[in-house]
Amino acid sequence: MKFPSMAEADGRTLGDEEVAAVERVIRSGMLNSVWGTEARELEREVARMYGSRHAIACSSGTAALHLSVVAAAPDPGDEIITTPITDFGTVAPILAQNAVPVFADVDPSDGNLDPGAVAALIGPRTRAIMAVHLFGAPARIHELRALADENGLTLIEDCAQAWLAELPGGGLAGTTGHVACLSLQQWKHITCGDGGVAITRDEELARRMRLFSDKGWDRAAGRSHAAFGLNYRMSELQAAVARAQLAKLPGVLAARRRTALQLMDALKDQPGIRLPRPQGHAWWLFPIVCPGGDAPELAAHLATAGVPARAGYLAQPLNRAPVWEARIYGTARYPLDGYTPNPCPRAERMVDRTLLVIDWNENYTSGHVEAIAQEMARYRGRA
Ligand SMILES: *Cc1c(COP(=O)(O)O)cnc(C)c1O
Repeated sequence: MKFPSMAEADGRTLGDEEVAAVERVIRSGMLNSVWGTEARELEREVARMYGSRHAIACSSGTAALHLSVVAAAPDPGDEIITTPITDFGTVAPILAQNAVPVFADVDPSDGNLDPGAVAALIGPRTRAIMAVHLFGAPARIHELRALADENGLTLIEDCAQAWLAELPGGGLAGTTGHVACLSLQQWKHITCGDGGVAITRDEELARRMRLFSDKGWDRAAGRSHAAFGLNYRMSELQAAVARAQLAKLPGVLAARRRTALQLMDALKDQPGIRLPRPQGHAWWLFPIVCPGGDAPELAAHLATAGVPARAGYLAQPLNRAPVWEARIYGTARYPLDGYTPNPCPRAERMVDRTLLVIDWNENYTSGHVEAIAQEMARYRGRA
């Protein structure tokens, strides 16, 4: 059975609306968002969807995360606490600002940051917490916000995998932290190839992020540079496609939720697995925990049967990534001299043995769900 893939047209929602959007921009003659209208409209639309005062469109999710670290304004050598189970785009911006990533261990039921582990790592150099709503499951963001407030830290929410994820008490993931970041990369819920958006309610944080995304150039002040910045601007072509995609986002979420709940139901009596908590889940992927440690074997069985599933999500959790052995800035290691990332035994066990992820898609049918459930049962019968 062919599973729709986010790498192909059958697993994307790209259609006539996106074609018309691109054509509209090209025919306008203005492809750059400094003078165009599409990126500013996208910002208004995302801000409205999230009930957030400010949105800054930029070139990628990683760029949005870099802006959020800039907004947190760590001094060189300050520490930012984050999770070892995430895309490297969460961590790279910490290094880019000469800050030090401090990895906190995760909750083994969903791979999201454990607030207790975060609390234990807060020290005099801690400047921010970067939480990730992993695979679309809401992280324990209210507890993290309380920790941030008690300690005067900035809380950044990485929502790249969690468009429209909902928090247990209501409200969207991305509205509790000081800044939240979204991604429009090819493999996310909606895409314009590459793109990102940072949202915030805070005027000053928004100002810092906007300046950094445009070479520190306050366009109202003439050709004058008020701050250090790079060029992280989104193009009008990206923004126009993103706007067409944003209009389809609620439908994408509804479809993913419907079939994910079908799979939850089909697997509810299967032994040897722990299913995700479905409340508020955005189902970027469908994660399953195998407490017995046989996720690699189950993933191999599913993959052989044509189900798009992988064990571990990462080759190794980011606290174990080879990058920490490498030189990062020329021959210098500052501010990472003598740096060794913390051990995170629960994250390490998840990635090595217990975590299975199944690609999820808005175009799955109940036939796809049945095929997955059947192969899961076949593996159990054999194991
Ligand atoms: C995809 C992703 C990023 C990076 O986004 P890009 O748009 O690929 O730069 C960051 N964090 C998480 C959790 C992601 O899934």
